[in-house]
Amino acid sequence: MLNIPGLKQVSHVDTPDRYTIEAVTADFLPACDCAGPRLVSNGRKTVEFADTPIHGKQVVVRVHRQRYLCRGCGETHYADIPGVNERHRITERCFAYITKLGARRPWSMLAQELEALRPPSDVPTKPY
Ligand SMILES: [Zn+2]
Repeated sequence: MLNIPGLKQVSHVDTPDRYTIEAVTADFLPACDCAGPRLVSNGRKTVEFADTPIHGKQVVVRVHRQRYLCRGCGETHYADIPGVNERHRITERCFAYITKLGARRPWSMLAQELEALRPPSDVPTKPY
């Protein structure tokens, strides 16, 4: 159902109005600019991204993102999430979908249709 390389679906919740897809990032270590010692795992942060609608339902991808701590400088890093537009909190395919439809319809009409595309807020982290 998810089909975004770099993300692994762990479960989904199907309600009458919405699909919520729970996913984790692929395991790889980001690099730190300080070139210090190795990064270590430091919990997870959960973030949500709107995705293109399926079967007329809103779709939200809830990613449990690995957080890392640099032992050299103490800076926090996160695993990259491929296929998402982090600035707009939507998937890249959803961004392309909006861009395509926005050329043909008024933005206000599109916004009503895609109510789920409001930037979701951060949600409490659950262990995975
Ligand atoms: Zn560092």
